[in-house]
Amino acid sequence: ATPTALLTGTGRGAQLGILIRGPQVLEDTRTVDTIVLDKTGTVTTGAMAVDDVVVLSDMDAPGLLRLAGAVEAASEHPIAQAIARHAAARGRLPETTGFSSAPGGGVRGEVDGVTVTAGRAAWLEENGIRPTGEQTAAFGTAEDAGATAVWVAVDGDVAGIITLSDTVKEGSAAAIGHLRRLGLRPVLLTGDNRAVALQVAAAVGIDAVDVRAGVTPAGKVDAVRELQAAGATVAMAGDGVNDAAALAQADLGIAMGSGTDVAIEAADLTVMGNSLEQVAQAIELSRRTLGTIK
Ligand code: ADP
Ligand code: MG
Repeated sequence: ATPTALLTGTGRGAQLGILIRGPQVLEDTRTVDTIVLDKTGTVTTGAMAVDDVVVLSDMDAPGLLRLAGAVEAASEHPIAQAIARHAAARGRLPETTGFSSAPGGGVRGEVDGVTVTAGRAAWLEENGIRPTGEQTAAFGTAEDAGATAVWVAVDGDVAGIITLSDTVKEGSAAAIGHLRRLGLRPVLLTGDNRAVALQVAAAVGIDAVDVRAGVTPAGKVDAVRELQAAGATVAMAGDGVNDAAALAQADLGIAMGSGTDVAIEAADLTVMGNSLEQVAQAIELSRRTLGTIK
């Protein structure tokens, strides 16, 4: 029997909605001692909401939002969906052509005859856009207030900032307690900024020293590798395109069932219920199943 069948056979695996890729996975659940958790969509709901549109040019806020919403409508990132939804609720969105995006970076496209670029500072820089010192200070102020902030540029110049917030999933804090009881050290890993990451970490009981923020998708792989090099056996839970490579690098990759296909394909184990409690249960159940069949 395959381990999936074994877990299903217990009734509990099926009941819990845990999908396991192969026999080795059970063994891996026994040895992991560290769990790297992606923030957005894993520890938090990923259902982000736009809080503010800060104009840093001669545009007006509705016009800025409309352009950003149009280009973000083509992306499946939680930030993108929030901006597109917010904009679409305030008026019909124009069409975007020539769309491109970088996971963990941002988006770019042509809207109404102008080029719209939205994302983090590094993505703007890649597109030859440099915010002024004053604009960077405004961005820092938004981030320091605990917001997720995104740059919006039009035709090569910064137009403004959109700030967003996310909510910690109900049950994430309790689940992290459960993971600790299973002997796992939780580490928070995110492409988002440090102030937001520290806020989330404090809310769920992850130590500030175990927060890695502002990390690119490649940086996520490096973070897992570094922990492994320091002797840890690493589980990683994530949901995004930006998590896929790190999930593959981890000794035990865990995808949220609501996650992107690439994340699920890269993972050893998928939890259909999308909760961290299910991640803890999956590890506990796999360890117990192993105990039974050995
Ligand atoms: P996380 O690790 O929290 O899931 P990501 O790695 O996906 O975050 O993204 C990191 C950062 O890149 C975001 O906080 C945002 O600044 C920027 N970013 C990524 N995708 C987009 C997008 N579609 N639009 C705007 N900004 C984006
Ligand atoms: Mg995520």
